[in-house]
Parts: sequence; C-alpha cells; structure tokens
Amino acid sequence: MTNIEHKLYIDTVIRRVETARLRVSGHHIVKIVAVSKYSTSDDISTLYSIGQRAFGENKVQDLKAKAVELDELPLEWHFIGNLQKNKINNLLDIDPTLFQALDSLDLALELQKKLEAKDMTLDCLMQINSAKEESKFGFMPQNAKESYMTIIEKCPNINLKGVMSIGAHSDDTKVIKDSFNTTYSIYKELPNATICSMGMSGDFEMAIECGSNMVRLGSIMFNK
Ligand SMILES: *Cc1c(COP(=O)(O)O)cnc(C)c1O
Repeated sequence: MTNIEHKLYIDTVIRRVETARLRVSGHHIVKIVAVSKYSTSDDISTLYSIGQRAFGENKVQDLKAKAVELDELPLEWHFIGNLQKNKINNLLDIDPTLFQALDSLDLALELQKKLEAKDMTLDCLMQINSAKEESKFGFMPQNAKESYMTIIEKCPNINLKGVMSIGAHSDDTKVIKDSFNTTYSIYKELPNATICSMGMSGDFEMAIECGSNMVRLGSIMFNK
C-alpha cells in the first residue's frame, strides 16, 4: 500500500474505534496501541507518519531492536508479552512507557528489586486471566484485587495503572463478552486505576463497549 492508501485504511479502523466509544459515551476516550510484533521498523515509520505514536511488542529483543532503529522518532513503547525474569534488565534499559503484562506476584517482586537497584519506577498493568484459560498468563480473577493491593504495598517502584486482559479464546461472543465484563468489574474496584487495556483486532469493538479504554491492535493496524 502507498502512504495514502494506508492512511485511508487506518481511517476506517479509527472510525470503528470512534463509533464503538461513542456508543459508551462522548467522554469515553480510547487509546490505540499499534501492536507491531509482526511488522518491520519501516511499517512502524509509515504508521508514525500518519499519526500513530504508541506501539506494542511482546518480545524484549524485538522491542529493543526496533526502539534502537527508530530512536529518532518520539514513539511510546508498550511491552505486552510475558516477561521472563532474566530479561527484566533488558526491558528496563529501554525504559518503556507501559509494561502491560505484570502477570505474577513473583515477577512483581523481582521487578521491584531490579527497579530499586536502578533507582527507577515503571508504569505497569496487572494482567488478568479473566477466562481462566490454562494457556494464558495472568492473575486469576478471584485473586486479582488482593494481589493488586499486595503489589502496591510491597513494590513501591511499580506504579500500577490498571489492568490488561486478552479476551476469551472462543467463537461464542457471549463467552468473550463475559471475559471482558469480568476484567472491567475488577478494574472498577481497584484504587487509582485509570487504564483498562482489552480488545484486539478481532474483538475490540465489544471490548470498548464493555469499558475498555485501551485497545491493542496488531493485524488490523498493519493490514496483515
Ligand atoms: C499480538 C497481540 C495483540 C494484537 O493482536 P491482533 O489480533 O493482531 O490485533 C494484542 N495483545 C497481545 C497481548 C498480543 O500478544
């Protein structure tokens, strides 16, 4: 696609986000994070040139490579994948805007140690396994609030900003919707939480209608 074609294409995505958010309220603002994990630095530059600023990656080495290559551009980097403890320092070297996948207490405690040693803080979202799927990372819904409070108490260098969740892996829209509603109801109970990150290319409109204010769009943003 040419830049113009890509812009027209992205406009249709933005219009869909806009329509969904207005169904909630004119005051309900939704941020789009473009997930670039299947895309190149060139693809990211193209999206940047038509106005996109926030990008997400799920592998530390890919994030690092792209952040270095695109160092000149004022991009916002989000880390959205499972973080292995031995990669924490590599992630912190990039100083991402938001770590969206804080998925265990163990990881939080280890992250706290590394942050303290570097005299840094990091904005994070707690990942919720709202559909209770074996294959997914994250806190189980029944433990989420208690664990959130524990992290606030024990990890002063972690700034918890809210929650992230991946919709249920199902063909049944009711099951997917239930998973979003579960995440949203936890989000509403958390102190000072302002970000509810849910919704991907296949389900973002439903996620927004369930209260999401941050969508992570990969394939649909890059037309892959
Ligand atoms: C890949 C990924 C996305 C984007 O997925 P698409 O279906 O391509 O929009 C969003 N969130 C997470 C956590 C991902 O790993």
